[in-house]
Amino acid sequence: MSHEEKENNKISRRQFLKRAAAASATVAAGPLIQQGSVSAKEKPTQWDKEADVVVIGAGATGLPAAIVAQEAGAKVILVEAEFDIGGHAITSGGNIPLGGGTSAQKKAGINDSPDLLFQDLTDWSIVQPNGFPDYRYNDREIIRAFADNSAPTFEWLVAHGVVFVDKAPDTLGGISVGNSVPREMHSAVMNWPMIQTGKSADPTVQATTSSGNGLMRPLEVAAKKAGVQILLEHKMTSIYRQTPNSGRVVGITVDSKGAKLNIRAKKAVIIGTGGSTGNVNFRRMFDPRLTEEYCGLSGMPWSDQDASGEIASMAIGACLWGLYNQTGEFGANITKPGLIGCQYNYRNLRWMPGSPVFHLARASGLRVADWQDVILVNMLGKRFYDETGDQFTANNARYVDPYVPGSYLNAEKIEYKPNNFINAALAGIADGYNGGGPIWAIFDADAVTRERWSPRPPNVDIDAGFFFTADTISELATKIMMKYQRVPMPPKNLEEMLARYNSFVDAGKDVDFGKPTPKYKIAKPPFYAAWATPVIHDTRAGLRINAKCQVQDMNGQVIPGLYCGGESAGGFSQHGLARAICQGYIAGKNAVAEKGAV
Ligand SMILES: Cc1cc2nc3c(=O)[nH]c(=O)nc-3n(C[C@H](O)[C@H](O)[C@H](O)COP(=O)(O)OP(=O)(O)OC[C@H]3O[C@@H](n4cnc5c(N)ncnc54)[C@H](O)[C@@H]3O)c2cc1C
Repeated sequence: MSHEEKENNKISRRQFLKRAAAASATVAAGPLIQQGSVSAKEKPTQWDKEADVVVIGAGATGLPAAIVAQEAGAKVILVEAEFDIGGHAITSGGNIPLGGGTSAQKKAGINDSPDLLFQDLTDWSIVQPNGFPDYRYNDREIIRAFADNSAPTFEWLVAHGVVFVDKAPDTLGGISVGNSVPREMHSAVMNWPMIQTGKSADPTVQATTSSGNGLMRPLEVAAKKAGVQILLEHKMTSIYRQTPNSGRVVGITVDSKGAKLNIRAKKAVIIGTGGSTGNVNFRRMFDPRLTEEYCGLSGMPWSDQDASGEIASMAIGACLWGLYNQTGEFGANITKPGLIGCQYNYRNLRWMPGSPVFHLARASGLRVADWQDVILVNMLGKRFYDETGDQFTANNARYVDPYVPGSYLNAEKIEYKPNNFINAALAGIADGYNGGGPIWAIFDADAVTRERWSPRPPNVDIDAGFFFTADTISELATKIMMKYQRVPMPPKNLEEMLARYNSFVDAGKDVDFGKPTPKYKIAKPPFYAAWATPVIHDTRAGLRINAKCQVQDMNGQVIPGLYCGGESAGGFSQHGLARAICQGYIAGKNAVAEKGAV
């Protein structure tokens, strides 16, 4: 930072902090720094409820686990922190890569097998353009279990009311699903009201639109039909063993609107809490750059991923696993936003008025069709990368073509072409702080016309400081005050940056960041600044589990009676639903077979 910039900052800092605090008053709690206790406690002396199997989290892992266990004869209690079931899974696109020889693959003439699936998901030779490998660090035991149970899990979903779009498996929406054959199936939304809008989809597209609503609502019906007791707004806060650090797992404590309840698990506890990306301190163990301003987590504000399952398990001795998969530069662990001007800006999730959580989301955001229409600047009003640059990529069927399993030639076929947009956005402003700070999309009235945006509520979030408008660039920079903007944006910086960018448009060349032929000047008032900070999406590292989804301790010993699956489990580099549903299926089966407490 130059001397002049430092002076600029000093002058306005007091006033800036005062106004920023006022703007932040309406920002939802978001991923505030949570404290997690990692000390084990004595088990309760009294139990308020009891079941054979207690499942934590009614998402992609928890609901299948609960149904499987209940149908196998266990009495199951499923606790869910939120007011409704679904977790991130219900917000999802419903693209589900279950393969290994499903009936849908067979019908389409696709030859797949558990062995091929296993080979694909452990292939060391696949790399991304950044040079990072998708599958190299996958735990073979965990992948073998997935490969063997993948097709049975698909058939189980169909038998439990999930309707899939009637077409051949494809490659749409898949991330790190193996290179050999198409495996992606799509759960049809049917006429379930969508949590994103509060309405059902248009009847003409209900059977052809892929959505997590069409996955989770049928499973909710199946769970209730089977007799699973679902306790909403019951958040697990502790897990207990017979003695604080030894013996089998015997139950949990939940918090329900301030009241504590102890629930005994006679056979097992299954963790399906969905990962850790919403817990700032936890996620920073993997990547110190991921500070508080990354508050637009995908899936929120429907449900959080606050690491509560991981922390409660670590307190009783559980170990983490496969940590590289969280930081490798592939997939969708951190994404470029697709929406701007709102807090929850993940590209594939738009909250609309009518959604039951719209009061928490507060705005729908402006979808960016062409990144030529904006420039992206950091807290200091400086550009940092080609705005058309993208996030990391991932491996999917036929990504490497021709593909020879395990061949050194696969890597040679991938052109080394780093996607460093995310890294540049997270780089920071060289002031000794971690995190890249807010990223702002700056645009003008002409961009609004080209994009056909309506830059006002409920599309943009003005009250909480995720969107600003002004008649001059200088005024716009001065107005940018909100919770995460920890230094004022020097107006001079933004003015100079725009003048420079406009000169690149005249010259047809961006000499600073190589944006391909910058197209549009930013010159016509009013001017706008919209929140465009990257979004944290996936957790790909978590608790150590074995093939049965049993949680293990630091010595590699099973913690008797404790199971985990989905984003709270480690050892499996793959985005999303397939591994969560499959591991829920595996955990449910094995939990029932436990001998349990005597
Ligand atoms: C917008 C979006 C789109 C996506 N699209 C796809 C897609 O098309 N295909 C795909 O494969 N994947 C997709 N995913 C990813 C996929 O939804 C998740 O990977 C998957 O749902 C993870 O399953 P899970 O069981 O681990 O967690 P979740 O499904 O999130 O379920 C976890 C549940 O646990 C609850 N919980 C957490 N802590 C506690 C506690 N202490 N006590 C009680 N309950 C608790 C949560 O509230 C939540 O309901 C998408 C995700 C998002 C956000």
